[in-house]
Amino acid sequence: MNNMLDYELTLFDRINVIRDTIKKYGEENFYISFSGGKDSTILHHLIDMAIPENKIPRVFINTGIEYKAIVDFVQSLAENDPRIVMVKPSRPIIKVLEEYGYPFKSKEHSCKLHEWQLGHHAPSIISYRDKERYGCPKILKYQFEEGFNMNISHFCCHKLKKEPAKKWQKENHKSIVITGMMRAEGGQRNTLSCILTNRSGKVIKFHPLAVIDKEWEDEFIQRNNIQLCSLYYPPFNFKRTGCKGCPFALKLQEQLDIMEELLPTEKAQCEIIWKPVYDEYRRIGYRLKKENS
Ligand code: SF4
Repeated sequence: MNNMLDYELTLFDRINVIRDTIKKYGEENFYISFSGGKDSTILHHLIDMAIPENKIPRVFINTGIEYKAIVDFVQSLAENDPRIVMVKPSRPIIKVLEEYGYPFKSKEHSCKLHEWQLGHHAPSIISYRDKERYGCPKILKYQFEEGFNMNISHFCCHKLKKEPAKKWQKENHKSIVITGMMRAEGGQRNTLSCILTNRSGKVIKFHPLAVIDKEWEDEFIQRNNIQLCSLYYPPFNFKRTGCKGCPFALKLQEQLDIMEELLPTEKAQCEIIWKPVYDEYRRIGYRLKKENS
């Protein structure tokens, strides 16, 4: 970092924000959404630094498409930390995809296309289909035409992540989720606030890392000798983890190439699970190399 004082000030500020927020709303109401990735590992340690001996659960949703190294990492933490909770969705990923549809390109695209396939032709969907900028890319417009029958939807995240998390939250009487989301990740997170309330003004989400950046994170890891999942170290050197081979990944080809070399069994698993999407990506040369190229 350019200025070590900045690091210390940010640390001091974040610790105070965490202490004040958790004290204000009651520790018993919080849980941490724990993915086993870099941000949530930092969050896990930062919360402990702010509130030593806290009993806030760290909830890991094993979607069935997590990297094996991530599951192993979370399991090894759980051996010495009873606050780590592992939750599974009620149905396997393949059944969810077959029943509700496959994610394609992005959440927005999958959602709009799903509505379209149900026969809903709202102005927002037509505008997405027709817009030149920030709309459906030219190469994917054929999906709004007759004859395109692939079942696409945005329900994958909903069924594999949100529903099991909500169910656990309800059963365990927790009202506020703490996440490792950061504004620095860009996109819709640019305007992320630390505290999110619902329409009735009730706090439902707490994002203590919202204002920090990757440089600060790296400094925090180094100073506190924090061990991350093995995927963040050579030979993998992942910058982020998340669901493997997810069709929403912008650098999907790069991800699959790395997996082919270093994690061939997991690459093969992705090819089976995401086959209909990968086939279509390859057929049109979108996000994956065109067939026979
Ligand atoms: S990130 Fe991708 S693979 Fe994971 S649940 Fe969401 S859509 Fe499915």
